[in-house]
Amino acid sequence: MENQLHIYNTLSGEKEVFKPIVEKHVGMYVCGPTVYSDVHLGNCRTFISFDMIYRYLLHSGYKVRYVRNITDAGHLENDADEGEDKIAQKARLEKLEPMEIVQKYTVGFREVMRLFNTLPPSIEPTATGHIIEQIEITKNILEKGLAYVSNGSVYFDVEKFNVNGDYGMLSGRKTDELISGTRDLDGQSEKRNPLDFALWKKASPSHIMHWPSPWSIGFPGWHLECTAMSTKYLGDQFDIHGGGMDLKFPHHECEIAQGKSATGKAPVNYWLHANMLTLNGKKMSKSTGNTLLPEELFSGNNNLLSKAFHPMVVRFFMMQAHYRSILDFSSEALVASEKGFIKLMTALADLNAIKPAASSSENADSMIGSFYEAMNDDFNTPVLIANMFEAVTYINKIKDGNATISAPDLDKLRSALHAFVFDVLGLREAKEGNDSKLEAVMQVILEIRKKARDEKDWATSDLLRDRLSEAGIQIKDSKEGVTYTVQ
Ligand SMILES: [Zn+2]
Repeated sequence: MENQLHIYNTLSGEKEVFKPIVEKHVGMYVCGPTVYSDVHLGNCRTFISFDMIYRYLLHSGYKVRYVRNITDAGHLENDADEGEDKIAQKARLEKLEPMEIVQKYTVGFREVMRLFNTLPPSIEPTATGHIIEQIEITKNILEKGLAYVSNGSVYFDVEKFNVNGDYGMLSGRKTDELISGTRDLDGQSEKRNPLDFALWKKASPSHIMHWPSPWSIGFPGWHLECTAMSTKYLGDQFDIHGGGMDLKFPHHECEIAQGKSATGKAPVNYWLHANMLTLNGKKMSKSTGNTLLPEELFSGNNNLLSKAFHPMVVRFFMMQAHYRSILDFSSEALVASEKGFIKLMTALADLNAIKPAASSSENADSMIGSFYEAMNDDFNTPVLIANMFEAVTYINKIKDGNATISAPDLDKLRSALHAFVFDVLGLREAKEGNDSKLEAVMQVILEIRKKARDEKDWATSDLLRDRLSEAGIQIKDSKEGVTYTVQ
């Protein structure tokens, strides 16, 4: 395709032509989960958004090294470098080893990512696996005079960095405003300035996750791990760094400051941020009960939902919003997406039965071109989906005998739709594998249900539907007949 990929860069606040450092290669780093609890839906959206971006870069012919870390140490309860390590705290509460907590929630996270059909990253490094690298960067920044040791901890000196640096450039914040906003925080006596952040923290006697270092027995600061792992695998400068909007400040701001101090270069060319999601128009919050876990979506086991939704319907729903827009979850919106998803999948299946004609009544090339145009415009998936529905309308017209398509156009349209639906949007059929035994059993059950309905035996028909729903199988009646989806 002629038109070039444009990416919205948080750093410039503008859409820029994407130009990788090394032609045809992309280095991409995304801040991964802190594995101390079940992954929440907002985080899932971030990882699904970057999965779509990864997939489109692959589809566009780039060789991509995609690094997404696992934070298994160093993430404290608050951003002021105070409080307990999130994982150590959970380990204490659940009376488990910290690494048992890490293992449990890493396995859970990967399972949810698998259900959402995300591709595994090329490298999934852990913070605890890169303690040496983090100590080396801390030494380096100390040598440059941009950090100081205080009571066994090492802090990054923001004021000194700002003599030549530009802390606040990503989030658009002014350093003096930031200082006045944080001056009142308690427990910062070790720091010269409230904005300074920990590169290394001395462990208190109760802190169970600690390592030896030149300064104290302690642990690395959270921001440091991403600098250590991104530069180790992608180089001092790389193309794309992504994460949730909430990480822009202070996490990513600190990464830029650390990278520049250590290497003298800005570490990242394109900063990308995925927006958050709301539930029924409000911020998700455990305390108000306005919250939803991925498992609850898949089982329907939450009062805010009218039914269960297949992970692919949820993924399709997410793709109907731009990754930089706030996305509002609601049962009604998901039901609407489910209809759209089924319509799209049905049209794809119908394509296989279409007989080509001598010529096409519509322009397939411009339809396919519009798919690329949408994605090249900062990965605009809602526009891509709208454009694909133009093709769906065309397919349905052909099916009804109101339009024609030539054999070469049919081939092109089929392969483009397959590529964008399966490879780029990362959707798949809302059925698990092709279990022929299950299929046979389901046909028997559907036959019994049909018989019951023909005899107006609604009790039996409802019982079958409800029990199957409990087992994660949803029956759907439509004009075309009865179908089912398996979770
Ligand atoms: Zn990070």
